[in-house]
Amino acid sequence: MKAHTHETQATITPERALEFLKEGNQRFVNNLKANRDLLEQVNATREGQWPFAVVLSCIDSRTSAELIFDQGLGDIFSIRIAGNFVNQDILGSMEFGCNVAGSKLVVVLGHTKCGALKGGLDAAQIEGMGMDNLNHLINHFDPIIDKIIENGEERSSANAELLERLNQHNVKNAIEDIRKQSSTLKRLEAEGKIKIVGANYDVETGVVNWL
Ligand SMILES: [Zn+2]
Repeated sequence: MKAHTHETQATITPERALEFLKEGNQRFVNNLKANRDLLEQVNATREGQWPFAVVLSCIDSRTSAELIFDQGLGDIFSIRIAGNFVNQDILGSMEFGCNVAGSKLVVVLGHTKCGALKGGLDAAQIEGMGMDNLNHLINHFDPIIDKIIENGEERSSANAELLERLNQHNVKNAIEDIRKQSSTLKRLEAEGKIKIVGANYDVETGVVNWL
């Protein structure tokens, strides 16, 4: 498998970009990794990069986008933050990926058993432990938790059903934030130049489920 070029990137539609990732995850779960010479790809991409997708995923060590979508060098922009949410800098990275560098697809990829989301549910226990920055991060999930938690429901990472509901809503929320907070990405999507999609990676099976 060869690295993408300016010519191949130009012919890829948003739908085809999505197919590439679906096919890549199929190869991953079937242990049929594409034959790719990474050193040759270093050489092929020395003058530039033409990635077809931007993937926002969690920092979780089990969710490396290049691995689970079986992609090589120069194929995808990989943005990672604990809990796969967006902020202004991440939106800036996505705008670069799509509007400057020509990617056709934005994927927000959540995953099961996310530690950041568990932290969000157990935030009260982390407070006062001196990790102000971590607290800042996990407080991001509070408005979503407040919205989805049911009357009398236990707010705890031990509540597995709530954790997975939070995961699904967190991905949807990130997609809404992209459209609300980036007029550029919203316009590209309206013009059909990009697609913005959500997905969920199952850490027990390696399967990416598309939302
Ligand atoms: Zn995570």
